[in-house]
Amino acid sequence: MTDTRTLAAPAPAGIFPASPANLLIGATAKAGTSGVVRGIEAATGAELEPAFGGATAADLDAACALAAAAVDPYRALPLEARAAFLEKIAANILEIGDNLIVRAMAETGLPRPRLEGERGRTVGQLCLFAGVVRDGGFLDLRIDRSLPERTPLPRSDLRLRNVPVGPVAVFGASNFPLAFSVAGGDTTSALAAGCPVVVKAHSAHPGTSLLVGEAVRKAVADCGMPEGVFSLLYDSGRSIGQGLVADPRIAAVGFTGSRGGGTALMKIAAAREVPIPVYAEMSSINPVVLFPAALAARGADIARAFVGSLVLGAGQFCTNPGLVIAVEGEGLDGFIAAAATALGVQDAATMLTPGILAAYDSGVAKLAVNAAVGIVARGAAGEGPKGQAALFTTTADAFLADRALHEEVFGAASLVVRCAGPADVEAVLGALEGQLTAALFMDAGDHDAVRPLLPLLERKVGRILVNGFGTGVEVCHAMVHGGPFPSTADGRSTSVGSLAIARFLRPVCYQDLPDALLPPELKGEGAPNMPVRRDGKLVRGSVE
Ligand code: NAP
Repeated sequence: MTDTRTLAAPAPAGIFPASPANLLIGATAKAGTSGVVRGIEAATGAELEPAFGGATAADLDAACALAAAAVDPYRALPLEARAAFLEKIAANILEIGDNLIVRAMAETGLPRPRLEGERGRTVGQLCLFAGVVRDGGFLDLRIDRSLPERTPLPRSDLRLRNVPVGPVAVFGASNFPLAFSVAGGDTTSALAAGCPVVVKAHSAHPGTSLLVGEAVRKAVADCGMPEGVFSLLYDSGRSIGQGLVADPRIAAVGFTGSRGGGTALMKIAAAREVPIPVYAEMSSINPVVLFPAALAARGADIARAFVGSLVLGAGQFCTNPGLVIAVEGEGLDGFIAAAATALGVQDAATMLTPGILAAYDSGVAKLAVNAAVGIVARGAAGEGPKGQAALFTTTADAFLADRALHEEVFGAASLVVRCAGPADVEAVLGALEGQLTAALFMDAGDHDAVRPLLPLLERKVGRILVNGFGTGVEVCHAMVHGGPFPSTADGRSTSVGSLAIARFLRPVCYQDLPDALLPPELKGEGAPNMPVRRDGKLVRGSVE
């Protein structure tokens, strides 16, 4: 039998030399010398050329030293320069052209339209954050003017602004090689906040990472930024990633990946002499609750839409609908029958990595042998290493009794929980761990059933959505892509949308600092055309 993993597939011609200078340490590009990180063609398991060298401890030290040195010069630049830098990164990513898409397709198995769309999202979020930076609202400027005549005590002059926390370590996601990787959401929001970034490249897409990393490095030079504002490291084991989180110069971590990986990094961050926050987005099964009136009116339509969301991207979305909750009855039976029909004709799909496929198969196998779980349907079996969609069912009692049924199976697998009545629905939701999303399918006749569940859902999830699925996360100002643990490490924040910038900011108050020494945006009545909360009232700059 041929071991396809030893057959080296060529990279698209001319993208990379044989020994690429893949470590981007500030302005310097050099080949890594500590072990090898190699891309795997997701569709075949074949090794992709070239090999990328891992970083040494000295490389890590150099990147962190440059990042620390860049903190003050970078944050001192005018906001306009920071915004233009983000836009330049976006332009440089577009300039890579089709090589980026071709390489990402090979490394991830994701189809062209999906990756082209993801490139648009990546560029779009860089431009969105450029707008956020220009607006200045993220600084949360506050001016409480002195009250020298106040009795019994006068009030000092108090002024507040947010400052960047310092260098941020970023671990990108395997399932978003562009929008949540080297120049993805975490990097973009950290740079927008004024923080230098050191990225640990994901080993599932090392070539894609280098192409994007070079685009960022070029933008640093194009815009005359301090070189340490961006570095990219590769890790042939675990020591560089872990050392990055442990490095005393790193002030915060952004991570998207597994619960095991995220919690390992949280422990390292908490054990440091100076602990730091880890913003890890990890596991979520994203409950979908089907209410009776909606089921009766359009159960089969909802079922088809559900299967479409479940199999999207081989189910490799953090907001994949992994759990369906509904009260027993004809409506639910109809939903399950229609979902089984729709799922049965779904083709098996290439998954991101052999490891993710193996984890998916193992999760599905565990459900299949659970005596309290029944198989509703499997998708079509495919040729070669592919993920085959799966839908299971169980009862509320069984779900409540077995924590294993609450675990995420990353991929196109979902579990329908049959409830005896509304109390079961509430009990099942109440037993869930923290989630990114909850999707409610309801009609007007369901409002009375939904209303009492909303406070519970607010405690459990970051985004409550109606008559739609969580897949397809809008990058905008009102988005929350976060939730209580373990969906994220810190449910007070989001990793998508402009509020993501708040993770990398810290407020500083200036009491009676002379005007000559205040930062420009806090001098006098506040910078013109920037939002300022003056004596408690939100105004724009010098305008009352
Ligand atoms: P992962 O294995 O956690 O890897 C994520 C990143 O962290 C990679 O760069 C990885 O390094 C690094 N890493 C992992 N464990 C580490 C450790 N103990 N010490 C230092 N670095 C560590 O996740 P993945 O492979 O990207 O995704 C697989 C799983 O993540 C899925 O099964 C799914 O459950 C989950 N996932 C969740 C979401 C979500 O949004 N909820 C999104 C994507 C994935 P290497 O590159 O060297 O492996």
